[in-house]
Amino acid sequence: MIEKIADRISTMGNSIFATMSKLSAEYNATNLGQGFPDFDGPSELIEEAYLAMKASKNQYAPSQGIFSLRKNIAEIQNKYYGMDFDPETEITITTGATEALYCSINAFVNPGDEVILFEPYYDAYYSDVILAGGIPRFVTLKKPNFSFDENELRDLINNETKIIVLNTPHNPTGKVFRKDELEIIAKIAIENNLLIISDEAYEFLTFNQIKHIPIATLPGMRNRTITINSTGKTFGMTGWKIGYASASPNLTTAIRKVHQWTTFAVNTPIQNALAYGFANLEKYIPEFVSNYQNKRDLALNLLKKTKFKAHKPDGSYFIMIDIPDNIFVDDVDAATKLVREYGVATIPPSVFYSKSDEGKTMLRLCFAKSDDTLKKGIEKLALI
Ligand code: PMP
Ligand code: GLN
Repeated sequence: MIEKIADRISTMGNSIFATMSKLSAEYNATNLGQGFPDFDGPSELIEEAYLAMKASKNQYAPSQGIFSLRKNIAEIQNKYYGMDFDPETEITITTGATEALYCSINAFVNPGDEVILFEPYYDAYYSDVILAGGIPRFVTLKKPNFSFDENELRDLINNETKIIVLNTPHNPTGKVFRKDELEIIAKIAIENNLLIISDEAYEFLTFNQIKHIPIATLPGMRNRTITINSTGKTFGMTGWKIGYASASPNLTTAIRKVHQWTTFAVNTPIQNALAYGFANLEKYIPEFVSNYQNKRDLALNLLKKTKFKAHKPDGSYFIMIDIPDNIFVDDVDAATKLVREYGVATIPPSVFYSKSDEGKTMLRLCFAKSDDTLKKGIEKLALI
């Protein structure tokens, strides 16, 4: 019976991404809202998925994921970051980064535990903490640089604090956390014996040679960090929904317990295709990055002809833009009018904030779109 729903989900609404994509379709708008490419990923991977199906790789995979995929991921982590994850005991394949986040949070949060989120936060963190009975607390990444105040973070810590969730490169701001910022977070985590869940879904999407640094590579962080990644971002096929969590064996054992009772195992033929993808990743990444950098630069140039001031992102495939003064009431009003009256869908970011009102002053655009889509969408913004 609907009135018997669990208390912990009673305040949950619909995801803003689904809401805006639905409105976009309804108004036949240009969709610069939900984060997904409107072009395909590498055709060789699609071919590999098909070959895997033809080769009868169609039954359940091992719960932790097929070994070749875990091994190839470990090799990439070693080549790019000098990390040394053991694929047997330290890497778990999940249904997207989304499931890795759910399993990690549910593996460690008891009712009443506090989890610190940097806001604007990716909405799933908040919901996962609530689903686990935890209490989210917030540190604001403030405009214009989306930097945080060390004291604001320190002030939140008490005996109930268990986890800090980090996201770099960051959705929605495009911020790539610098080494000195990560060092502050690491120091605080070590001093207070906290766990870090580091969502690095956009790890390969950084621009102008800016380096992505996994916080697990900082001294003292290897055994207190769960690093989460998404192949949907890396290979540009979000609908394949495969992610992974990398962490020390004791953390991994806990994550795998939740994973076992959530999905048990992940799509077998697609895991095979991705094993091929990671084996060939180094050939693929340079063109992948330059393609996205061109799109970012195109979007930034087109935005110069509008009244929306862009916050140039160093990573991810999102741009935050300031809403011009005295035209809209707030971000929700702007996003609603833009999709209904101007035919362009964006994301109102106030839903990613719980403490600060800064979200009301901006909109998020996704630039993982064909050049034509970007031109069409941003030309509509220029009508304001
Ligand atoms: N984390 C972040 C920061 C994201 O932006 C997304 C989705 N785009 C996810 C996690 C979820 O990734 P997946 O689609 O692999 O579940
Ligand atoms: N991560 C995507 C975004 O930020 C959306 C994923 C989803 O719709 N759940 O837009």
